[in-house]
Amino acid sequence: MDTLPCQGCNGLCCGPVPITEKELKTIHKKIKAFPRKVRTELETQPRLFGTCIFYDINRDRCGIHAFRPEVCRAFGYHQDLVCFRKPELATKEPLTWKEEPIGYLSIDFTWAAF
Ligand code: SF4
Ligand code: SF4
Repeated sequence: MDTLPCQGCNGLCCGPVPITEKELKTIHKKIKAFPRKVRTELETQPRLFGTCIFYDINRDRCGIHAFRPEVCRAFGYHQDLVCFRKPELATKEPLTWKEEPIGYLSIDFTWAAF
C-alpha cells in the first residue's frame, strides 16, 4: 500500500480523535506499563493547544503508534478521512465503527485518565 508523507508534518492532523471503550482500556493498560521516565518525557512535552496528548513532538511521530486508535490507523485511506497532502489515497468507503466511540481523546480523556 502506498504510504502517507507524514514525516515533517509535525503532527498536523493529530488533534482530538474519537475512541472506543476498548481502545481506551488498551491505551490505559499500555501507558501504565510505560517506564516512569518515558511517560514523563511524553506527558510534559510543550504541545500546541489542540494537538493530541500522545503526539511525540521530539520524534515527530505518534507516541502510542503500536496501539493507536482505529481512526488514526484509518486516516488518509478513507473517503471521509482525507489527508490533504495525498488525497488520492483516500479511496476506501467511509469508516464504519464496530463499536461506538465513547468520547474524544485529548478532550474527554487527557493524561489524567491514564
Ligand atoms: S496523514 Fe497527512 S497531514 Fe497527517 S501527518 Fe500524515 S501526511 Fe501529514
Ligand atoms: S493517537 Fe497518535 S496517531 Fe492518533 S491523533 Fe494521537 S498522536 Fe496522532
